[in-house]
Amino acid sequence: MSKYVRFTFECTRPEITPFAGLAELNAYRRKLCELQLIGMDSNAIGFGNLSTREEATCNFYITGSATGGKSELTSADCVRVVAYDFERNWLRYEGSAIPSSESLTHAAVYESDRKAGAVIHCHDLKLWAALLDQIPTSSNSVKPGTREMAHEVMRLFRVTDVHRRRILVMAGHKGGIITFGRNFEDAFTVLVDARRESSTCVDSAFHQRTPARDERSVS
Ligand SMILES: [Zn+2]
Repeated sequence: MSKYVRFTFECTRPEITPFAGLAELNAYRRKLCELQLIGMDSNAIGFGNLSTREEATCNFYITGSATGGKSELTSADCVRVVAYDFERNWLRYEGSAIPSSESLTHAAVYESDRKAGAVIHCHDLKLWAALLDQIPTSSNSVKPGTREMAHEVMRLFRVTDVHRRRILVMAGHKGGIITFGRNFEDAFTVLVDARRESSTCVDSAFHQRTPARDERSVS
């Protein structure tokens, strides 16, 4: 069992059949890999995960733990989560992979937003630093992949406008960002827009802080 997976789980079927959203999942995963927002870190530890809701149910398909280094995922690299219990820190799934360490966090998004059809968890240190406490942000003391994180995500849905923004920052998980939407295109667009806006803000803040040439010469 992966040391990063902090919940207990029960596998009820050792395989899943290819699911409808797999091609779309791979397409957006490729874009995220190209941007280095998911993949493998310098210690060969995979980071980032994607999931998609099984139409009109509470079930969802999520990428497996330790799949960050693969260029293309098959259904054997994903699991179908069919039940979960935040209180027991437990989930039930089908598939041959180990569910992503953030499975309960994804479940909390689907639970909080019935229209959410896809969730992206990626790492973007620059965006994380720019948005920390500026947009809905989970408590610094809450670690990723825990039931506390699932509760924290649900709390943000109750007390912030994360439902409208469709993006949140994980303060206790450096670089950790979550976006969601009706589908992967939606969730990816939220992420790309946030990256564009935050870099524009950083640039304009920089220019505001930097005195104009003639001002600098006055001293
Ligand atoms: Zn992460």
